[in-house]
Amino acid sequence: MNHTRTCTEQWITPLRPVLPDLTDRHIARLARLEADLTEILAATPQAGAPASVRLLAVRRRLAERVRTDHSSGNNTRETKAMAEALAGFVCGFHDLDLRDAVGPGHGRMILRHGTEQVRRRWRVRLTGGDLVGIAATERHGGSRLQEITTRASVRPGGGWWINGEKCWVSRLTESAAFVVFFKNPDDKITAAVVEARAPGLERGPVAPSGLGGWDWGTLALTDVQVSEDDLLGGNGGGLAVFRQHFAAFRPLVAATALGTAAGAHTQVAATLTARAATGLLPRLRDTTLVTLGRTHAEINAALLSAIAAARLTASTSPHADLWSREVKAHAVDTAHRALQELPLLVGAGGFRADSALSKARADIGGLLYADGIHDSLLRSAGRTLTSPPPAEIPRLRSAEDAENPRHTAAA
Ligand SMILES: Cc1cc2nc3c(=O)[nH]c(=O)nc-3n(C[C@H](O)[C@H](O)[C@H](O)COP(=O)(O)OP(=O)(O)OC[C@H]3O[C@@H](n4cnc5c(N)ncnc54)[C@H](O)[C@@H]3O)c2cc1C
Repeated sequence: MNHTRTCTEQWITPLRPVLPDLTDRHIARLARLEADLTEILAATPQAGAPASVRLLAVRRRLAERVRTDHSSGNNTRETKAMAEALAGFVCGFHDLDLRDAVGPGHGRMILRHGTEQVRRRWRVRLTGGDLVGIAATERHGGSRLQEITTRASVRPGGGWWINGEKCWVSRLTESAAFVVFFKNPDDKITAAVVEARAPGLERGPVAPSGLGGWDWGTLALTDVQVSEDDLLGGNGGGLAVFRQHFAAFRPLVAATALGTAAGAHTQVAATLTARAATGLLPRLRDTTLVTLGRTHAEINAALLSAIAAARLTASTSPHADLWSREVKAHAVDTAHRALQELPLLVGAGGFRADSALSKARADIGGLLYADGIHDSLLRSAGRTLTSPPPAEIPRLRSAEDAENPRHTAAA
């Protein structure tokens, strides 16, 4: 989207008094990310090339810049989580398709749950910009992970063969590897990292109505080999991997979606300001001003909730899982509502196929499903809220705990 004031200036800087650990250095890094995104997008030709080629180039170029940036400082886990959520917000502000422009994304599952050797290898690959997809959903419904039918069987000579079919898989052709969820021979859900070029993978692309930046579709697995080293979270540990990953990932999705709504808000407010200034509109109607004020408040309130959820996960709070489920649903619903209302304020121009507002509205629709369908998330949150509290709510393991076992022992 084309904005006059940057996202950092307009949306993030005003939050500083309520985010006391958001320092000048963080603001400078976010502003640099924004400048880098603008520069790289302008330098990466759009015409002719599929969107995903451009997005992957942006991810790799940003990875290069992050590698040579030594100004990250000594942040706590909670501050790092806040900074990541705000980086997601900045990316979403420019285009929801940039949701994987920075960070390990689904590769975080490998960094947290892989064997030491696998983690070491993937740290290098992810730092270089490799992208990781997740293959969990099946035809019977993504909201019921426990019922997946993709299975492992014992392979003569060692390891397993995996057979089954996944659907609605994003980053289908761009991923360097997938984290695949399946049932082990003992019927326990297990996760493994599978290289994208592994024999036995067959892709069936499907055209999406939004979020078209990455390819999307089915991933069939026929006798795909995995060994013990490829398992994440160990044999039968798939549900814990899924739960821990999404406790951290959903607040990022929430912040990114809100960034897209903020981008639309900035664009609509700028258009209306220009129309009033040039006399095209004699004055701005009260209903328009009310919508701008209300959506501004709603986006900010939901962003602060998303940052709170990210911090809860980073601090291994026992409430993190509940918050991240609720916040993903609330934030994406908030962004979706704003994207239904805001384009109406600028008229039919917002309905043009080449309008950034049209694209944002279509893209946000995909996030109503991806990374957790909302009625399922809120229903499970309600169930948690009406269950008798366990003697002790289990704490989530943090990324640092997983990557540094000595840290866990000390905690
Ligand atoms: C843009 C996009 C990207 C995605 N990317 C990925 C990806 O990378 N990897 C991946 O694995 N998946 C991906 N998904 C799939 C996504 O995770 C699923 O869409 C989501 O989990 C919901 O699953 P579903 O669509 O199968 O819906 P379902 O699980 O079928 O749910 C549909 C509706 O049925 C309801 N329902 C469930 N059970 C019952 C019942 N017993 N009675 C009545 N109603 C019921 C649900 O609550 C919901 O309202 C993506 C989807 C989209 C749209």
